[in-house]
This record gives sequence, C-alpha cells and structure tokens, in this order.
Amino acid sequence: MTAPAAPTRIAQLAASLDEPLLVLDPTNVRYLAGFRSSNPALLVRPDGGATLYSDFRYAEAGRTAAAAAGVEFVVSGRVLLKDLAARLTGRIGFEAGFVTYDGWETLGSAGAELVPRRGVVEALRAVKDEVELDAIRRACEITTATYQRIAEEGLVGRSEREVAARIEQLFRELGADGAAFAAIVAAGANGALPHADPGDRPIEAGTLVTIDCGARVDGYCADCTRTFATGPLPDDLARAYAVCLAAEEAGLAAIRPGGVGAAVHEAAHAVIRDAGWGEQFGHGLGHGVGLEIHEAPTLRPESEDVLVAGNVVSCEPGIYLAGTGGVRIEDLVVVRDGAPEVLTRFPKALLTVD
Ligand code: ZN
Ligand code: ZN
Repeated sequence: MTAPAAPTRIAQLAASLDEPLLVLDPTNVRYLAGFRSSNPALLVRPDGGATLYSDFRYAEAGRTAAAAAGVEFVVSGRVLLKDLAARLTGRIGFEAGFVTYDGWETLGSAGAELVPRRGVVEALRAVKDEVELDAIRRACEITTATYQRIAEEGLVGRSEREVAARIEQLFRELGADGAAFAAIVAAGANGALPHADPGDRPIEAGTLVTIDCGARVDGYCADCTRTFATGPLPDDLARAYAVCLAAEEAGLAAIRPGGVGAAVHEAAHAVIRDAGWGEQFGHGLGHGVGLEIHEAPTLRPESEDVLVAGNVVSCEPGIYLAGTGGVRIEDLVVVRDGAPEVLTRFPKALLTVD
C-alpha cells in the first residue's frame, strides 16, 4: 500500500465549493496553481477539476504551470473577462472583493449566473504550509541581517531617505527578491507618524528612529519594525520605549491557537492604556503576512478572526507622541501550539546607534 498523495491546494479549495469558483486575483492564482501572470484566471470545480487561463504572452509559462498542477490550460483572448464570459455557463462563484463592477457586468454578459464569494482562497492562504514558512523564514533572516548592518553603519547624520535606500540595497545583496514594501524610516517628530515617508533631513542625535521594513523571498514577505535611540533620550521617549516593549511582549503572549483577533489586540493595548497612552496607539496590533504584506487574519479591535496553528501574523504596538516622536516594535511570528515561533530575531532591548 502507498500513502495517499498530499492534497494539493486546488483539491483543498475544491472540497469547500458548492459551485465552480472563478479565481481572478493574480495572487490567489499564483498560490493555487504556481502561475505568475498579470492576466490570469483559474476556474476550480467542486469535483477537483480546474482550468487555467491566460493570454498569448503567458501561454508557455501557463502550460508548464498547468502541467505541474495537474490542470488544463487554455489560451484566452487578451480581454480576459470578455473571453471568459463566452465560456461560462450556469452558477459560477466569483471573488466579490476583487472583481470590479465593470468586470462583473462583462462576466455575466453571456448569461452565467454569478454568485459572490468572499475570502475563500484567502482563508486557505492564512494557514501556511512548510514550503511557505521556509520562504517567510528566509525573508525574515535577511531582514534581521539587514537591521544588523544598518545598526553597524550608524544613523546620525544620514537622511531617512538614504537609510531607506540602503535597506533595499542590502535586501538584494543578501539574496532577497527585493523589498516587500517601501521601507519606513522615521526619525524624531516624524516617528509620531506611523506611515511617515522618509525625508531628506539628517537624522539627529538624542531621539528615536523607527525603521519598518521587510525583504521578499520567493514572493513571500517579511515584516519587522525596530526603534533605535540615537543617544540619551528625553524621559518621555525612554518611557514610551519601555511601555511599547512590554505591550509587544504581552501581545506575543496572547498569540496562540484559539486567540481571537480583538482579544489579542487588547492584551497589548491594555498595557499602553495603563501607562496613560491608550489614545496614542491608534492602529491594529497586527496582520497576517504571506504572498501579500497585509492578509488574513487581522489582530485589531474589530477582528473576530480566530488564530490557528500555521497562521503568520505580525505583533506591532506603537506609541505616537505628536510633535515629539514615536516608537513601534514589530515581530513576525508563526502561530504554534504553545508559544509562537518568532521569525524576526533582531534584539528588542533599546539599542543606541549613533
Ligand atoms: Zn511593518
Ligand atoms: Zn506590519
């Protein structure tokens, strides 16, 4: 007797379907079929059969990917939705969060009965397999090594923009595809803006510098934030750092299977609120990370998402003191039975880099 083959992602999706699902989000197609195209579709049927579509530009890659995934490949017209409309019959599920109103009109123009579906493939993507975890782990290792280099090279006198460019250069030198998102480098008062754009002013001594960045490896993202001191700090910034670190540890301690997004957020927010800065932490504690930098599940006050083993989530409380500065500390972790596995290993004790 031989062991049954491991279920493929397409088979896993098919088992959850009531009618065929037309997958049009290129990230979802890449996840399911290992096919990268700017103009793809994947029709997955409840019986496990599937057809991959893309236009002439992608025909060769499409045939190769389809053969590897065990599905049929069809060369479509360049105007994909119009082409698909003529092929679709009966009830067809579509990704309501991805298809535009125009696209919906086109898809249904030849008579298919379109059924909106939400988050179906995203729910599968939220639980990572070992291949995916390996890519995310490598992206985090490169990100950690980049923080090490940046700390060695120093911050004072360089501009935020210069440091951000250097980070992206280091990612590539260290073997990443590139950056998962544009690096945030926010010094002094800019640190009070969670998504500050790096500017040209030289970084000054005696303040905090928040750096939020992540490498991308095999399409998978890392996400990590560290905040550095550039010399002796004013008391409020030193205290904000200590409170933020305590909140981050409290958040990590709440990340486990069965944890509800809102409750995990609250575990960290309570620490900041008790210190008197509840209103100065105005964003969610964390988000899922994978092929996209923000994906399911989410950790924020409104989130009903329930964590399961294999989720990859960030834990990133911040304290933003308008006009003075800010601190954010972010780790990326794998939800495990017991304590989460922390992938971003750069130390979190306040480090002075001048
Ligand atoms: Zn981040
Ligand atoms: Zn993040």
